[in-house]
Amino acid sequence: MSTETQNAAATIAAAAPAASGASTPSTSFLSSVAGDNPYFTAGFGLMGVGVGLTLLRKGLVLGSTALQRRMLVSLEFNVKDPSYLWFLHWLTHQTEAAQNRGWLRSHQLSVATAIERRKNGSQAVAFRLMAGPGVHWMKYRGAWMQVRRERETRAIPGADGQPWETVTLTTLSRDRRLFPELLAEARDLALRGHEGKLVIHTAWGIEWRPFGKPRRKRPLASVVLDEGVNEKIVKDVEAFLERREWYAERGIPYRRGYLLHGPPGSGKSSFIQALAGELNYDICLLNLSERGLADDKLNHLMSNIPERSIVLIEDVDAAFNKRVQTSEDGYQSSVTFSGFLNALDGVASGEERVIFMTTNHPERLDPALVRPGRVDLAVLVDDAAPAQAYKLFCKFYDDDGTLAARIRDVVQEGVMRGRRISMAALQGFFIRNGPKEAIQATMEYLGLGRSL
Ligand code: ADP
Repeated sequence: MSTETQNAAATIAAAAPAASGASTPSTSFLSSVAGDNPYFTAGFGLMGVGVGLTLLRKGLVLGSTALQRRMLVSLEFNVKDPSYLWFLHWLTHQTEAAQNRGWLRSHQLSVATAIERRKNGSQAVAFRLMAGPGVHWMKYRGAWMQVRRERETRAIPGADGQPWETVTLTTLSRDRRLFPELLAEARDLALRGHEGKLVIHTAWGIEWRPFGKPRRKRPLASVVLDEGVNEKIVKDVEAFLERREWYAERGIPYRRGYLLHGPPGSGKSSFIQALAGELNYDICLLNLSERGLADDKLNHLMSNIPERSIVLIEDVDAAFNKRVQTSEDGYQSSVTFSGFLNALDGVASGEERVIFMTTNHPERLDPALVRPGRVDLAVLVDDAAPAQAYKLFCKFYDDDGTLAARIRDVVQEGVMRGRRISMAALQGFFIRNGPKEAIQATMEYLGLGRSL
């Protein structure tokens, strides 16, 4: 049948040129042939049906595209947009809530794993199932929406190794007003999780990414430093943060560097974290010994610090011993000392930078690192002074001052005999013991026997 149709069409095509010049004879020729030929009539009819169907299909496609354009509305965002993470986070929330209600049906799930590594080496891992790449349906405020999460497999992953992804939301045109509402809800949900929390970022390739879950802020007053030290640093940072214009008018890079030095366990890191919390700042934890970190990456990181963040470089002496950067296992990273200084100076950047460095060995630091402009305020954060022991004791125990006075005398006696105790060690005794046992343990630690 189809062969017949084709033949008939070929006949018409062959006849067409002749028809262009003289229409009447060819029309009569056609009608004479067609009129007497039942096969031709059938073929011609079939061709008509074929053409009709093709047109109908095209019409339907065009019609549905036009209808889609008029009736549906889509919103697309990609992995580089903050909304992307906010939305996926929000969707995870919805997925969890919906699994019981059953309206978000999906067999394509992916897992988001959060690993929190604590300073003492322990880890906490949390898993969350979320809508994976594919098409999902959800209902938001009575409107159905299609969620299409697509992963571009051909695109080269970004420098951070993350695959290129897009999420497209599609809904009926009349529900378009829901998009901004949904995104605002997603943003609020994401930020609510951070409220009153401290976010720590670490370097991930050339980008800063939040590390682990936001943690509870530590009150500044819970870190007990020597008389006036706490206030001195806070005042300095606050004064700096208020002087943006002053720096801009004089063309001075808007940066300030701090060095907290002193023995381990004296509260350097705790203080910086508490300070960030107090100022509502995040912390960007920079590990100079990290594998793969090179001068250019470091420079990029330092020029792209998230807003309202304090950069924290711990144990900066260990990173640059004799100007060669070596990690404990002998690995030499490709950050050079001059590259580090350049990154600290940040010639190119006019953005606000608050940098805190800590060290247990200030004497090992290169003078080039601690010159003004790189370190503007250096503060000794020392082992427990008698007054600090007193204050810390009062924070742990409900005491009328008698026993607190005793711990102060114990520490004082230790200092006189050249014996010292760190605040971390004191905290350890206070956590484990009642007040009297804690005093006893401190005396033994300081080698004071039972003499007091
Ligand atoms: P550093 O950075 O000086 O080595 P950390 O801040 O890491 O010390 O302190 C280690 C632990 O000891 C923390 O749990 C902290 O709570 C406690 N600690 C140390 N110093 C103080 C301090 N001055 N006041 C309150 N707690 C302290």
